[in-house]
Amino acid sequence: MSRTVYVNGDYLPEEDAKISIFDRGFLMADAVYEVTSVLGGKLIDFEGHAVRLKRSLDELDMAEPCTKEALLEIHRKLVELNEIDEGLVYLQVTRGSDGDRDFAFPSEDTPPSIVLFTQNKPGLANSPAAKKGAKIISIEDIRWGRRDIKTVQLLYPSMGKMMAKKVGCDDAWMVEDGYVTEGTSNNAYFVKDGVIVTRPLSTEILHGITRKAVLRIAEEAQLKIEERLFTIEEAQSADEAFTTSASAFVMPVVEIDGVTLGEGVPGPIAKRLREIYLDESQKAAI
Ligand code: PLP
Repeated sequence: MSRTVYVNGDYLPEEDAKISIFDRGFLMADAVYEVTSVLGGKLIDFEGHAVRLKRSLDELDMAEPCTKEALLEIHRKLVELNEIDEGLVYLQVTRGSDGDRDFAFPSEDTPPSIVLFTQNKPGLANSPAAKKGAKIISIEDIRWGRRDIKTVQLLYPSMGKMMAKKVGCDDAWMVEDGYVTEGTSNNAYFVKDGVIVTRPLSTEILHGITRKAVLRIAEEAQLKIEERLFTIEEAQSADEAFTTSASAFVMPVVEIDGVTLGEGVPGPIAKRLREIYLDESQKAAI
């Protein structure tokens, strides 16, 4: 069945949705995005995504396509029209187009392009992958230096995911100057002797919406947290590890570069954080 998508003010069947070939999102990856989960037909942490979208746009001197209230309305309408119970809403804002290709930005009155579509993912919260845990490889982090801005420059993370799949693994953690930055599409953590370790926020990683929520939950559960740099070797000798993201929530990690963590099954802290996160975020969903 064809989806209804949103493009620059119109709700359209996906076959009829069109964007200019001169759009800078297409030509220059001059665009930012957000992915919001839907559980029980409601949006998870919409506020967090709206705040980060605004920050990404501001950092790139890109105009806001509409108000936060209008954005919420579009999200809700797409969820309703496409009858999404569990799934995702993808949102992309680009710098638009003035009808030609140029490295210089178009004039400031060029309207941004805005596109949203839903992805139906029944069983998202109860994923078998989370029960098994993920196998991770490490790869060098060769991305640009403003990873705190959620741009659509996703070629290298996409290649990283394929490198993992090629060797029978699920995902890759990226390493820069000997220290783990983050996963291809998630933030990275390990747990040793009850202490949760994750890299501190900076321009080197995306400031995960789920990271913020999960660290708050961990703090409330009296768990110790250390925000510091860490190596793959340290994570390999951990009791357990996990990743967080808006679309996979808390995902346990059971293997890193061929080394099995603990018993090779999802660890108790990752499992508990996943349960609490899913429970709390569904209660707060709008
Ligand atoms: N890091 C990267 C590189 C990501 O692409 C993502 C999500 O797409 C995350 C971290 C997790 O962020 P969030 O929890 O906001 O989904």
